[in-house]
Amino acid sequence: VACAVFVCGTAAAAAYRYKDASGQWVYTDRPPPAGQAAQSVTLGRVDAGSPKMVVLPRSTSTGVALTAVNGCECTVEFAVKAKTATGEKVARGVVQPRSEQVLLDVAAADGPSSVRYEYGYVVGAPGVQHRPPQPYRAPFALAQRFQVTQAPPDAITHRDAASRNALDIAMPVGTAVHAARAGVVIDVAARHFRSGLAAQNMEDANFVQVMHDDGTNAVYAHLQLDTVRVRPGQRVSRGEYLANSGNTGFSSGPHLHFVVLRNVGLRSESLPVTFAGPGGGGVTPRSGQHLVAY
Ligand SMILES: [Zn+2]
Repeated sequence: VACAVFVCGTAAAAAYRYKDASGQWVYTDRPPPAGQAAQSVTLGRVDAGSPKMVVLPRSTSTGVALTAVNGCECTVEFAVKAKTATGEKVARGVVQPRSEQVLLDVAAADGPSSVRYEYGYVVGAPGVQHRPPQPYRAPFALAQRFQVTQAPPDAITHRDAASRNALDIAMPVGTAVHAARAGVVIDVAARHFRSGLAAQNMEDANFVQVMHDDGTNAVYAHLQLDTVRVRPGQRVSRGEYLANSGNTGFSSGPHLHFVVLRNVGLRSESLPVTFAGPGGGGVTPRSGQHLVAY
């Protein structure tokens, strides 16, 4: 991600990633506003299979085209903000899977490296409806039983829109995690090993992200190091083995963080889910209760 921000020629270019006031990731080459917690972004992803989702400056005959490059097997909505001689220009665009789209043309007499801009993105087409064809399957092996330690309406750590309906399910490190619903794997992280409740661990969770047919996506997080057994682009069926649970990233103990998201317009919103219970009926997960996979 780092080099993508804008000066790819400068190997040591610093890049930053932070969440803005609306909770969206912003990528920029300069330190974010004072008081804004940010992380420097390391050059290159730890997982070579992760899709590239970046905005690049490309030279044109009249200036520079800020171009969204979407390497994901999914639709991605981008926004870009550029500083120009005449002021600030913003643009957004919904970019189809594995394609590119010019978001903004800016005049730039001194070439691409003179253009100052930042961008953000959210995976998924904006405004989709959550239409699961059947209740979700509890994301572990059939007949296993684990305690839900955080579910709505409780919000101990799940306080923003992207996590309000997320679930924490306590399970020992090494428990097999299975797909709760069919879809296409769009991103994974598998090489992280740090954990604990320190801010620098926020980005260190291993995860699998699966896009569903209705345009919503599921995230399975805090997975065990080097156990992810699916890769971006792969279609998975409901119940398919994905990885082992772990305790990586911002986590106080072994558990699975499971959330279904949709893009509501450059913003991710979590969605309530129900699970198949005995006889296939919908079970609403509650904090403190046990969940069984049927
Ligand atoms: Zn959680």
